Amino acid sequence: MVKTLYWRQSQYAYKEQIMSTIGFIGLGQMGSPMAANLINGGHTLKVFDISEDAIQALVSQGAVAAASPADAASDVEFIVTMLPNGALVRNIIFGENGITSTMSKEALLIDMSTIHPFETDALVKEMADKGFSMMEAPVGRTSDHAIKGELLILAGGSKEQIAKAQPLFDCMGSETVDAGGAGKGIRVKIINNYMSIALNALSAEAITLAEAIGLDFDTAMAVMSGTPAGKGHFTTTWPGKVLSGDLSPAFMVDLAHKDLGIALDLANQVNVPMPCGAASREVYSITRAAGRGRQDWSAVLEQLRVTSGLEPKIK
Ligand code: NAD
Repeated sequence: MVKTLYWRQSQYAYKEQIMSTIGFIGLGQMGSPMAANLINGGHTLKVFDISEDAIQALVSQGAVAAASPADAASDVEFIVTMLPNGALVRNIIFGENGITSTMSKEALLIDMSTIHPFETDALVKEMADKGFSMMEAPVGRTSDHAIKGELLILAGGSKEQIAKAQPLFDCMGSETVDAGGAGKGIRVKIINNYMSIALNALSAEAITLAEAIGLDFDTAMAVMSGTPAGKGHFTTTWPGKVLSGDLSPAFMVDLAHKDLGIALDLANQVNVPMPCGAASREVYSITRAAGRGRQDWSAVLEQLRVTSGLEPKIK
């Protein structure tokens, strides 16, 4: 580990950087720019991918080519994996010519792939049982952010592991969140993706209906950008109501249920399928059936919590 001063253009400031040796495995849309940013940050990289072209592109930027995951993991302080799925991550760690056949017990393996949290839990435990150190750090945002070194790093691991990995995270991302321990980084990543991916479909559904019933596209977008439809509920409707323990109605569940029904009927008549809206309407049906029809529409949160067996928060 070599300490040096380096210039990070995006931060317009000199700061102390610890240069490390890193094995990087998985040089796809995300992994390639992340590896390039580690090289630009002064780190020494050995890279591996099943694509020789991907390896050579990084070699031309200063990396050393590795012949296998085992080769990438030998004589390095960190190993980073950025792979498409959990089965591959497992195979690359424990399979033939895998990382653990050469990895030092002092090194830290950081899996930055998006995989099933239970797979992460199992891998972290099996690694610890064998005396190896592993954490997860999946990323938010897109490959454009990966290129600019502006990823959101969702770190799951001990405080010591996160502190050790922070200089690497600073090269690849602009923000690191300590998610609260091993397995929590991948959990927050999956929940975040769940919500934004589902919201993408719901938003597309609403805008499609708007167009199908003859609304001007830009007008519909402008109206919804200024309401909880476009802004989301975390910072608009929830804080003063369900998050404050107050379910007195600003807008009643019964009325929300009625309005969703009108939209679904309208869509039905103009032949627009509304799978997200139909499912959402039933969330309000469940909430009404539980006797909450005259409560605030944010009561759907409390109702789903209770239906899922969580302790009620609001008496
Ligand atoms: P990608 O398919 O572009 O890259 C995956 C890389 O892994 C490829 O280069 C592939 O050749 C390599 N690979 C496959 N099998 C391998 C093996 N056995 N050994 C070595 N390398 C192997 O995918 P991506 O977009 O870079 O995504 C990587 C991870 O990041 C995924 O888990 C994805 O869900 C997550 N992610 C992607 C984005 C995004 O915007 N693309 C954003 C956040 C997180």
